[in-house]
Amino acid sequence: MVSMDTLTIKTENKFRSLITRQAYAKGEVICGIPTEKVIDRANRYTVQIGHDKHTEVGKLSALNHSCDPNVILDTERLVMVARRDIDKGEELSFFYPSTEWEMDAPFICLCGSSNCIHVVAGARFLALSTLENHYLNRHIREMMIDLLNNTELHLTQILEV
Ligand SMILES: [Zn+2]
Repeated sequence: MVSMDTLTIKTENKFRSLITRQAYAKGEVICGIPTEKVIDRANRYTVQIGHDKHTEVGKLSALNHSCDPNVILDTERLVMVARRDIDKGEELSFFYPSTEWEMDAPFICLCGSSNCIHVVAGARFLALSTLENHYLNRHIREMMIDLLNNTELHLTQILEV
C-alpha cells in the first residue's frame, strides 16, 4: 500500500485542505484509501466505497471538493490517483459525488469552474447529463441505475391507476 507521507493537512481559519509535498504525473497512484474502519453511515471523515459502506479515510478527510478536481478516488482499486499532472505544493481535491450518493453535510460550491454543479449534496441529486461529465465509481453508477429503474416502475404504476 502506498503511504500518505507526502501529504500534509493545512489549516487556515479552521478550514482544512490537503497539500502534496511531491509532484505527480497524470495517472500516478498517490496513496491507498484506508479501510481499517468501515461503517454504514456517512460522516465528514468517511468516503463511500459501496452501497452501505463508508470508510474512515484519516488524512484524506481533509480533501476538499472541486468540480474540476486534480485527483480521483478509485473505490474499486482503493487508491487515490492523479487526474492530471500535479505540482509540488498544490492543494488536492476530488469530485465528492464520484463517491458519495447522499452526503451528510451538503454545501454550495463556489469553485468557478465551467463544470460547477453548485449544490454538492451527493450524486443522487444531480442530473445524469451532469454526472456524465465526471469520473464516477461503480457503486454510484449502480445506485443511479437503481434509482432510474425505481422511478420508471413508479411512473408505470401511476399511469396504470
Ligand atoms: Zn464547483
